[in-house]
Amino acid sequence: MSSVNTAIQLITREQAASNLAAASTCSPALARGPWDYDLAEALAGAPAYGPGASAADVAPASSPRQGQLPEEYKLASDAELDVRIRAAKAALGDRAVVLGHFYQRDEVVEYADFVGDSFQLANAALTRPDAEAIIFCGVHFMAETADILSRPDQAVILPNLAAGCSMADMADIDSVTECWEQLAEVFGTEPDADGRVPVIPVTYMNSSAALKGFCGEHGGIVCTSSNAATVLEWAFERGQRVLFFPDQHLGRNTAKAMGVPLEQMPMWNPRKDLGGNDEQALLDSRVILWHGFCSVHKRFNVGQIEKARAEFPGVQVIVHPECPMEVVDAADSAGSTDFIKKAIAAATEPTVFAIGTEINMVNRLAAEYPQHTIFCLDPVICPCSTMYRIHPGYLAWVLEALVRGEVLNRITVDEDVAAPAKVALERMLAARP
Ligand code: SF4
Repeated sequence: MSSVNTAIQLITREQAASNLAAASTCSPALARGPWDYDLAEALAGAPAYGPGASAADVAPASSPRQGQLPEEYKLASDAELDVRIRAAKAALGDRAVVLGHFYQRDEVVEYADFVGDSFQLANAALTRPDAEAIIFCGVHFMAETADILSRPDQAVILPNLAAGCSMADMADIDSVTECWEQLAEVFGTEPDADGRVPVIPVTYMNSSAALKGFCGEHGGIVCTSSNAATVLEWAFERGQRVLFFPDQHLGRNTAKAMGVPLEQMPMWNPRKDLGGNDEQALLDSRVILWHGFCSVHKRFNVGQIEKARAEFPGVQVIVHPECPMEVVDAADSAGSTDFIKKAIAAATEPTVFAIGTEINMVNRLAAEYPQHTIFCLDPVICPCSTMYRIHPGYLAWVLEALVRGEVLNRITVDEDVAAPAKVALERMLAARP
């Protein structure tokens, strides 16, 4: 099976040749180098997520920008980049470790020493104590987490600084602090007779270091899509309710599966007073859901599942819990990237799987398990916009700089944020069943 990149290029070439308006990719711009978007941002004076699932989301003005990649890396052929990346990695040896997220393009993942989800990768880096540099081919919050967990002398590098995450950007420290203050006015701050505080903040791993630090400072905790239910149980033991950010869908899907009624899960819209709720709704709440979402997983819908079931009777539909509730309810199962991988690996008979998660991971699973039929529920190729910002050209650029002794694109989290963020991460590890 060809990579998502190759597929995008073939589709856009065919479209151009036949002058077709209808697209099988969500943007023909995906076929171009991400440096076009670094330049477009510079010219527009404003950041943007770039083509892909988050193209319509508005990037915060404070988003990190990537300067221009040197021409030699933009002009290099795939074969030349391959030779240069391999040579730089060989020269660096154990001094550098390359991490590749499941959602990253194959053309980058092939150079990764470890492939996994964000937390698996941050932990994988810890197994390479000799590495002076951790090159994180993922997005900004992942590099921050790796920096928090790594030694101070290890440099975490994000090959393209514009690789943010539209979901993580939907909750910022100022809006969450404002929400926290408003909630304190409604609930007070005193514990109940059982010693449970009015509200516990829970942040998804897909959030800025500042928000992880906020949770550490306010008796809260971090969760992943693998352990969200365990973490909510931890929080309910200590609090009367939970403030869950930034992903409303993971919060809702997890709490619903634990038996929390939907009417006790009000949504907090940071642009409205009291998040758009009346006081009673907040007082009656168990989980207050932040108004955030992943634009990759928001693309999945029940119609796609119905179509898959009609075309492939017996199909197993597995979706990620960042998908909307109706999609999770209509699927056969829902779980993290690790859950999806394990479910496919466990199938002993040839099976048809329709998967609701990012296309790069789905295509890689399809190639890895040719005995099964595995396809993405979304028929339109629409990768994560921010993962797309990493390209082999940027990887070659940062690796060759390391060989020269130069550290480019280092991501650092200040100690006053990193220390409480680590507390929240450690609580999560301790909460593990
Ligand atoms: S897939 Fe969604 S949550 Fe993950 S990095 Fe992309 S936008 Fe963020």
